[in-house]
Amino acid sequence: MNYSFNLGVAVSSLLICIVNLIYTFIMGRTDKVQNKLFICILCILSINSITGIASAVIGLYPDRVADPEYASEVSRYAYFVTHTALCPVFYYYVSRISLVSTRLGNWKVALLSLPFFVTELMALINPLTHWVWSRELNLEFRREWGEILIYIAAALYYVMALIVFTRSWTYIAGKRKVAIVFSFVLVAAGVFVQLLDKNLKVEVLAESIGFTGAMMAVENEDDRIDFGTMFYNRIALSYDVGGCMKHHRKLSVIVLRINNYEVINRLAGNEETNVLSDILSGFLTSLVKRYYVYVPNDSTFVMTLYDKPGKEVDQLVDKLSARMEEPWEYQDFSIQISSTILVTQMPEQIREVSELFYMIDSPVPQKELKPVMKEHDLDYIMRRQAVEKAIIRGFTDNSFEVYFQPTYHIDGRIHGAEALTRMNDKELGRIFPDEFIPVAEQTGMIDDLDDYVLEEVCKFIRSGIPQKYGIVNINVNLSVLQCMKPGFIRNINRIVEQYGIKKRSINFEITESIAADDYRILSKVIKQLKDDGYLFSMDDYGTGYSNVSAIFSLNLDVIKIDKSILWGAEKSKLGMIVLENTIRMIRQMGKKILVEGVETKEQIELLRKLGVDYLQGFYFSKPIPKDEFIQLIEKDARIHRV
Ligand code: C2E
Ligand code: MG
Ligand code: MG
Repeated sequence: MNYSFNLGVAVSSLLICIVNLIYTFIMGRTDKVQNKLFICILCILSINSITGIASAVIGLYPDRVADPEYASEVSRYAYFVTHTALCPVFYYYVSRISLVSTRLGNWKVALLSLPFFVTELMALINPLTHWVWSRELNLEFRREWGEILIYIAAALYYVMALIVFTRSWTYIAGKRKVAIVFSFVLVAAGVFVQLLDKNLKVEVLAESIGFTGAMMAVENEDDRIDFGTMFYNRIALSYDVGGCMKHHRKLSVIVLRINNYEVINRLAGNEETNVLSDILSGFLTSLVKRYYVYVPNDSTFVMTLYDKPGKEVDQLVDKLSARMEEPWEYQDFSIQISSTILVTQMPEQIREVSELFYMIDSPVPQKELKPVMKEHDLDYIMRRQAVEKAIIRGFTDNSFEVYFQPTYHIDGRIHGAEALTRMNDKELGRIFPDEFIPVAEQTGMIDDLDDYVLEEVCKFIRSGIPQKYGIVNINVNLSVLQCMKPGFIRNINRIVEQYGIKKRSINFEITESIAADDYRILSKVIKQLKDDGYLFSMDDYGTGYSNVSAIFSLNLDVIKIDKSILWGAEKSKLGMIVLENTIRMIRQMGKKILVEGVETKEQIELLRKLGVDYLQGFYFSKPIPKDEFIQLIEKDARIHRV
C-alpha cells in the first residue's frame, strides 16, 4: 500500500472540502434544504478525508500509534458509516435541485430510502457481524459481501440521480447542467479507480473536486436572484415551476399584483431601491421562506407553496389579503397599496408555465376583477389559452372569415365598408374579435391575421364589384403594434401591389388608444403610407387618453367617433356635451367625421343636425359575410337608381 500517496490525496481532499465549507458559510448559502444537503455532502467528504489521513498516518508510522490495529479499525468504521450515506444524499440533493418531491410520507419515497437504511445499518453493526469488512494481518482489510451490497445501493442512487437529472434537463440552467455532469463523471471515475485497485484511495478526492464544481455553479445562485429585491427572479420561477410540472409535483401559487406600483414608486422611491420590496419583503418572508418568493416583474410577487394542504393555503391567502387592506408605514409615509391576489393550484388548475406567466403578466379583464381571485375566477386564463390554440389552428382550419359592415353618407347613400374578422372554431364555435384580437396581438399572430384580412379585401376590390356599386374604398383595421414593426410598410405594399389595385381603395384604421411616446414612430409610418396613396382613419376616437393635438398632426382623412360617445349622449346631459363638442372640434379642424354604433333613427337625426359626414351601425347593417354584403349593395344601388 502506498501510504504517502494516499496521505497526500486525503490531505488535498480535506483542504478542498474545508474551503468549500468556509465559502458556503461566508456566502450565507445555508438556509435552503438544498444548501443543507450540500453542507452534509461536504461534511461526509471531510470525515472521509480525515479517516483517509488517519489510515495513511497509521500505515506510515505504526510504531508511533499506541494501538494501530484498533485505530485503523475505528477509522475504517467512521469511513463506512459516513460514506454509505454519500450517494443517497447526493440523490436527495439532485432531486431537490430538480424539484422532485422528496417527502417521506410518500410511499414511493419511503421505498426508495430502504436500500440506504439497510446498508447504513450493515455498516453500523459491522463490528459485530463483519458482513462489510473483516480484518486481516498487517492492518489490511478484506472486502466482504456487504461491501458489494453497499456499492450496489450506491450505484442505484447514482443511477436514480442521473434519471432525475436527465428528466429535468430542460429546466436546469446551462452552467448548472455542466457542473452537475462534471460531478457525476468525477464521482463515477473515483469509484471506478478505487474499485479496480483498493489501494488507490482517490474516490474521496474525485468527489470533493466534483462537488466544488457544484458549489460554483449550483449553490451560487447569482443568475437566479433579482438583486433589486434579493428574491428569485423570473427565470428562476420559470425553471422551478417547469421542473415541478415535469416531475408531476403539485404546488400552489399565490400571485400578488400591485396595481398602484407607479404611484408608490413616484411617491417614495428613488432609483436605487425597490420601494415595494422594501415595504413588503419583511411581511412576505413572515408568510413563507425567502426562497419561495419570486419577483417576475417590478410590480408582482409570486409565492410558491409545495405540499401544503388547501386549508393552509387559504389561511395564508386570508392573512395576506387582510394585511393588504391596511396601510403600510414607509419612511415618513403611510402608503396604501392596491393589490390583486391570484391563487391557483398547479397542475390541477393551471398546467403549463406559459399559463402561469400569462396569469402573472396580463391584466385581469375588468369585469372579472376582484381583490382575491381563485378557482373559477381564473377561468379567463384557460379560456385565453384555448383561444390562443384556436388562432394557431385557425390558419390551417380556415376558421377566419372577413365580414363587411357598410358605412353610409349622412343622406343614406352607401359610402364604403369596414372589413371585420370573424372566427369560427371547430371547438370553441364563434369567437368575436374583441376576444381574439388582443390574444393575437400578444402572441404576435396578429401579423398573419392582418395580412390575411388585407389580402381578402384586395381580392374583393380586384373583383370590381365594390366599385360597380359606388364603393370607392374599404376600411381595414390595423394593429398599432404591427405598424411599428420594421418592414411593415414594405409588407403592406407588397400585398397591395400583388393584386394590382389602387392604393386609394384601401382606408386603414388605427385605434386612438396608444401611448403618446409612440406617436413619433407612428406618424412617420402613417405619413409614408399616405404619401404612397392610402387613406387613413382614426378609429374609436374618444376612448383613449391621447394628446389631441398629436392626433391631429397625424393628418388623417376620417375620424371615427367611438360608439360609447354616441351612446353616452343619450344617457346624460354631460354625455351630450361631450358628443357635441367632440364633433364641433373635429369639424373645425377640417376633418371628415364618421360615427359608429348608430342603432336608431333618432340617433341619425341627432347626428345629421350636428353635421356628421358618415354613419356606421346596426341600424343599417351588422357586419355580414361577403356574399350577403354584395346582395346588400346591389339592392341599395337599385333603390337609389330608381
Ligand atoms: P372597430 O374597428 O371599432 O369595429 C367596429 C365594431 O363595432 C365592430 O365590432 C362592429 O361589429 C361593432 N359595431 C358596429 N356598429 C355597431 C352598432 O350599431 N352596435 C353595436 N353594438 N356594435 C356595432 P367587432 O366586429 O366585434 O370588432 C371589434 C374590434 O375588433 C374592432 O373595432 C377592431 O378594432 C377589431 N378588429 C376586428 N377585425 C379586425 C382585424 O381584422 N384586424 C384588426 N387589427 N382588428 C380587428
Ligand atoms: Mg375599426
Ligand atoms: Mg371602432
